[in-house]
Amino acid sequence: MNIKNNFLETIGNTPLIKLNYPSTITGCNIYGKAEFLNPGGSIKDRAAKAIVLDAVKKGLLKKGGTIVEGTAGNTGIGLGLVGNSLGVKTVIVMPETQSQEKKDALNLIGCELKLVPALPYSDPGNYIRQSEIIAKELEFKYQKGVLWANQFDNIANMLGHYKGIGPEIWDQTKGNINGFTCAVGTGGTLAGVSKYLKEKNNEVKIFLSDPYGSALYNYYKHNKLESEGNSITEGIGQGRITENLKNLKVDGAFRIKDEEALNIIFKMLKEEGLFLGGSSGINICGAIEMAKKLGPGNNIVTILCDSGQRYQSKIWNKSFLKSKNLPQPYWMDSKHE
Ligand code: PMP
Repeated sequence: MNIKNNFLETIGNTPLIKLNYPSTITGCNIYGKAEFLNPGGSIKDRAAKAIVLDAVKKGLLKKGGTIVEGTAGNTGIGLGLVGNSLGVKTVIVMPETQSQEKKDALNLIGCELKLVPALPYSDPGNYIRQSEIIAKELEFKYQKGVLWANQFDNIANMLGHYKGIGPEIWDQTKGNINGFTCAVGTGGTLAGVSKYLKEKNNEVKIFLSDPYGSALYNYYKHNKLESEGNSITEGIGQGRITENLKNLKVDGAFRIKDEEALNIIFKMLKEEGLFLGGSSGINICGAIEMAKKLGPGNNIVTILCDSGQRYQSKIWNKSFLKSKNLPQPYWMDSKHE
């Protein structure tokens, strides 16, 4: 392998891993793109790099400048690391409900972290709305340029996936791919990957895998932005059509229960050695549903977004799961708590 010249070059080019249990039970080949192996630990390193490099190219951000963003955590970690590598400061606004592990990581890498109550987008106190307000305030204060990354509506996010992970998946499968599915937070991944794959081969099927509490399943199925229930997964679920989602066309949508997502990530760890977060569970369950729908012999790709380590105090904590009446890993007895 080549020597990388800097931190930015270490983002992307992740392995595509065959998921054996999901493949065996469906008679398909189900593959997971190992995004948890990015240096900041998630798929969002790619979006952070794409947004920052786009801003640098447009002259909106320079060394000594500041990035401000509202994030469930992973984008913040990516922006913090990318920012550090370019001599740029990072201010992160995050809902206080997110995992302690993500808060600790943001503090550790030197981001300025502002926690706000978890409020809907329609409320001006919402973390995304707050990040825009803070970015505007800092613009007056600092001389060297402030970038509001705006991952939800800045299509540099989607285009980063279109130019990066899309071609990687096409090359790794040698074009032998019948379907792609993943969940949506900003929509950058699903919209960017599907744009690339559909351009290469319009026959590739694209499905949304949505958690409960998100409005997108009803939107793509019944043309209504309505949500039901809720989910303990983080970083996914959406209540509006973001700019990144505007041109997305899906062939169908699945809605996945947290119970199913948890059971599959427990199995993936214990039987295949893959330690994953909750959104990866939603994605793998979606890929299994898609395999059942397309029938045996198809090749389906999904995303392994981040590592379980990021959720040790939540979905990988028996007491937390018990308190929510959710399934728990059978091998985790009280001596491990
Ligand atoms: N999984 C996790 C863990 C995430 O943090 C995110 C991003 N918020 C996603 C999935 C969804 O990715 P995207 O924003 O590209 O839709």
